[in-house]
Amino acid sequence: MSEIKENLLRVMERIEKAARKVGRDPNEIKLVAVSKTVEAARIKEAIGAGVSILGENYIQEAQKKIEEIGRLVSWHFIGHLQSNKVKYAIRLFDMIHSLDSIPLAEELNRRAEQANQAIKVMIEVNLSKEAAKFGADEERVLSLARRIQNLNHLFLEGLMTMPPYFDSPEMSRPYYIALRALKERMVKERIPMKDLSMGMSNDFEIAIEEGATYVRVGTAIFGPRK
Ligand SMILES: *Cc1c(COP(=O)(O)O)cnc(C)c1O
Repeated sequence: MSEIKENLLRVMERIEKAARKVGRDPNEIKLVAVSKTVEAARIKEAIGAGVSILGENYIQEAQKKIEEIGRLVSWHFIGHLQSNKVKYAIRLFDMIHSLDSIPLAEELNRRAEQANQAIKVMIEVNLSKEAAKFGADEERVLSLARRIQNLNHLFLEGLMTMPPYFDSPEMSRPYYIALRALKERMVKERIPMKDLSMGMSNDFEIAIEEGATYVRVGTAIFGPRK
């Protein structure tokens, strides 16, 4: 068996075990295989082994790979999106995990409308102000979500966060609890959303215990990045 396939099976086992531990159905959790810096041949190997959602961080890098690999799999954008790249993002991706400002939302909507399509988005929340460069501050999430609700070409699916890096995965837990609480608050404010994109190679079990519906896993599938 190839190394990527072995890694993938191990990740899927870990997802299942974490879900069962807290009484969740493992099928509620979708795996985004994060393929930044990974070449197309190895991505194809992962697809052959069963990966169906790929996560990319950089538009130009993703564009080449998506042209080569195609759209039978779903491509999600998880990096920082610049407004001058929005028109490409609309064409390339089924979901943007990292929407973090009203101007960016408006630009996405404008370009989606021009392209006569709609795109799924999540709001990236910055829960660790000093450590994270990107993401909307918690206080601004509600107004951003309300704005997105009024943009006809965007579907607001949920919230995403990326805690600072800790050696101990347990240290991420407060961030994941906070993201889930914020989602519950949105739902009470009549902003329906279902997804929580949280958890990476080193801490996705904790994220699943706290309600993740998407985990974004790179290293544990593809090995260390160069
Ligand atoms: C790179 C990246 C990941 C995956 O990180 P790993 O530690 O390799 O699993 C997840 N989310 C985002 C936003 C990333 O940039």
